[in-house]
Amino acid sequence: MPSPDALRAAVRDVVDFPKPGIVFKDITPILANGPLFRDAITLLCNPAADQRIDKIVGIDARGFIFAAAVADRLGVGFVPIRKKGKLPWKTRQTSYSLEYGESVVELHEDAVIPGERVMLVDDLLATGGTAAAALQLLTELGAEIVSVSFLIELSFLHGRDKLGSHPIRSILSY
Ligand code: 5GP
Repeated sequence: MPSPDALRAAVRDVVDFPKPGIVFKDITPILANGPLFRDAITLLCNPAADQRIDKIVGIDARGFIFAAAVADRLGVGFVPIRKKGKLPWKTRQTSYSLEYGESVVELHEDAVIPGERVMLVDDLLATGGTAAAALQLLTELGAEIVSVSFLIELSFLHGRDKLGSHPIRSILSY
């Protein structure tokens, strides 16, 4: 199994992005490096080693990159959760609060059928609002949440406290 150390070394801290006072974890150096990207996907696939998973769900937009690669590696379907107004078919939506204002995410009504075993994948867990909204939509559709997986968790923000009793996994924790 790959070591996460090289992944950690590749994450770039960008100070004052997207606003003053925020240190953004830039994951693009991992994407740009073939062996590192492959290692990240291998580590994200871990929950599937001893569990049946029917679908991988990814969150707009960086989550898509990792979730789609995981789905391809496991040979299962991919489901997108998108920001409001981007999905063409009938959707279910939920809103969640941001630091200023709120955001809406959507899922196609028929993207998951009740009882399907899904893994939610995103690049980073910060305050947990985004992932909590995604989990709410999946739960409303009757999905069974096998794993909620992140490449990075900013543990000092305690985002996992918003994600209930689902199994939460992160490759790198800060
Ligand atoms: P949350 O809702 O947990 O506060 O924020 C998580 C979402 O915001 C994720 O979808 C993630 O892509 C994005 N995000 C927030 N902060 C960062 C960051 O420092 N780096 C990256 N790559 N994404 C971030």
